[in-house]
Amino acid sequence: MQTQTIFAPSTAIGGAIALIRVSGPLCPNIAAAVFDRDITATPRVLRFVRILGEGTVLDDGMACFFPGTKTYTGEPMLEISCHGGSQTVARILHRLGQTGARPAEPGEFTKRAFLNGKMDLSEAEAVMDVVSARAEQSLKAALEQLHGTLSRRIEAIEELLLDALSAIDAAVDYPEEMEEDVSAALPESLQTAEERIDALLLEGQQGRPLREGVYVALIGRPNVGKSSLLNALLGAERAIVTDLPGTTRDTLDEQTAFFGVPVRLVDTAGIRQGGDQVEQIGIHRAHEALSRADVVLLLIDGTGDLTAEDRQLLALTENKPRLVLRTKGDLIQAPEAFGELTISARTGEGLTELQRRIVDLSGAREGAILTNRRHIYALEQAKKALSLGRAAGELTLIATDIREALHHLGAITGRDVDGEVIDRIFARFCVGK
Ligand code: GDP
Repeated sequence: MQTQTIFAPSTAIGGAIALIRVSGPLCPNIAAAVFDRDITATPRVLRFVRILGEGTVLDDGMACFFPGTKTYTGEPMLEISCHGGSQTVARILHRLGQTGARPAEPGEFTKRAFLNGKMDLSEAEAVMDVVSARAEQSLKAALEQLHGTLSRRIEAIEELLLDALSAIDAAVDYPEEMEEDVSAALPESLQTAEERIDALLLEGQQGRPLREGVYVALIGRPNVGKSSLLNALLGAERAIVTDLPGTTRDTLDEQTAFFGVPVRLVDTAGIRQGGDQVEQIGIHRAHEALSRADVVLLLIDGTGDLTAEDRQLLALTENKPRLVLRTKGDLIQAPEAFGELTISARTGEGLTELQRRIVDLSGAREGAILTNRRHIYALEQAKKALSLGRAAGELTLIATDIREALHHLGAITGRDVDGEVIDRIFARFCVGK
């Protein structure tokens, strides 16, 4: 079946200029139909054009024709820059729809780039991460992945395993000459492969927060200063600050970044018994937030003594990566008040130190190149298969486990992955990417 030609706006509606991209075999015909001059004769040159409707001029803009396969998608492409007004863009898109092309699905340009061998799957996923990065370190990690750093590490492991497999094949074919040598050398190469996977998995622990954000739950009894701290950290009046206990009814989920690391701050309703129905729902969510948290901030009111409720919360969060904060530092008289760090939402005391400690506790590390849960899972499965292989003893069994490990590694680069997974990954992209 002939590949369909697709089009989509690549810029958000409302800017001064919009970029529309077209990809597929019909690009030369479309250029001939919608521009007032032949831009295919000057490939890769940005040309001024008049964009034509049927008997009308739709807009003046710039357009460029990219022929052949040396393009983003690996297909002929057109890029059209036009005025950004929604009417203009809508009319040009409508016109493109009359030329035999169809609107692109989310991520379809990048999906074609992957299917045409322009990038592997982890690189294609990195495109989305670059677009959606909210913090400096997230962007750096995504760019590393886009540039193939992860792919190269995976390929190096794959090569080791492929060498081991061919050695096994040779030993099975010529048992007298080779079997002993191969059996002797195998454990070492499998171990090396496993060690490299372990190193990557460690980077996964350090990298996942860079992509997903460090999930921080604020917990403490009513009126200890959770909403005030949240506001101080965000620098904005988002949570409702009141003097009535129990007035933060729901979890508030806010995104920010500390030291270039993306952070999600979740203010919980306070985990306590009783209350009305609305408060009960909040309490349920608070428990959920706590179980998901990468870092828990337990707030203790620095102006009073520890209460029974504080003690309950201390016990509840004991096994979590946790920081116990002494709040309302500006009001504290007694320096021996309980807690690890004194903060004041009012004066800002301790807040920079708090941000640093949150990043430290999260384990996030600049430059970690493995950030994506899907990749982490595949590596864990590959590691499992290799561990089984090392224990298997018999060459043909070891070979089966190595193939299994290769299958999981191939899911990361897309060498060995089924269509459904691919569809799911690209469906999360935005249109026009
Ligand atoms: P929450 O119920 O834990 O969310 O507590 P709030 O943030 O609503 O704070 C309860 C009360 O303590 C409010 O009156 C705040 O103004 C006050 N408060 C919170 N943080 C501080 C602080 O750092 N210094 C002082 N002086 N008051 C604070």
